[in-house]
Amino acid sequence: MFQKEIEESLQLLEKKWPVDPILKDFMVGKRSDVTDYPIKVKDVVFHIPFLADEKKFILWKCFWPDCHNCCERQGRLPLTSDDLIVIGKGLKYQKTSDFVKNETLVATWNESSPSGQQVVMTAVNLKRKKDETEADDGTHISCRFLDDKGACSIHPGRPGVCYLYPFSAWLENDKGKARVHSTFQFTGDCPGFYLAESLDSMKDVLREYSEIIYDYNMKYARTEREGYSSSSFV
Ligand code: SF4
Ligand code: SF4
Repeated sequence: MFQKEIEESLQLLEKKWPVDPILKDFMVGKRSDVTDYPIKVKDVVFHIPFLADEKKFILWKCFWPDCHNCCERQGRLPLTSDDLIVIGKGLKYQKTSDFVKNETLVATWNESSPSGQQVVMTAVNLKRKKDETEADDGTHISCRFLDDKGACSIHPGRPGVCYLYPFSAWLENDKGKARVHSTFQFTGDCPGFYLAESLDSMKDVLREYSEIIYDYNMKYARTEREGYSSSSFV
């Protein structure tokens, strides 16, 4: 995401939630004291940002149901092959092919990998509004499945990527074995980030998300093998 977009997202976020000025500076790239603190939790290596001058970690908790900002400002919803079946059935489609035809769009977009390399991604995306077109890809749309009580109307069958937010995940080769890594996405849309001197307050969350992230990565890798999505370095 570009710095300008993150700044705009933060300006909107600040109308509803307090945002720590230190975190704000970090998210728009104004801190030069950021180091990476890797911690392995079950089968996932989390990369937690540490601000050396503050001697504090950047941690996260979710404010749902008081917050559903990520559903109100959804950029795209790439689906795994498991999502295609589960969500298709949930929306009462007899055939997955009909669900794909009516409720999804194929989109291609560029992403930065954690090492800064550009990756071209192509995936089948769930339409966030009924009349969504390719031109809407990446724009912030309030998701059509967010109901008037602030809940997701297709939960628990919501896309795996919704369970993942605000983490991102990737695979790295670790002595011949695929190892799942994860870090936060700082899009400027989530009020749940906070500063803390130790990781203790987030240990349960890391344990919970380790399983979610590992499971999602396996499903996404299968989705690529089955030809529903692809990623390649530019
Ligand atoms: S992940 Fe962040 S934006 Fe989404 S509901 Fe939780 S606190 Fe809000
Ligand atoms: S599918 Fe559900 S969880 Fe995902 S963005 Fe839409 S409302 Fe939110």
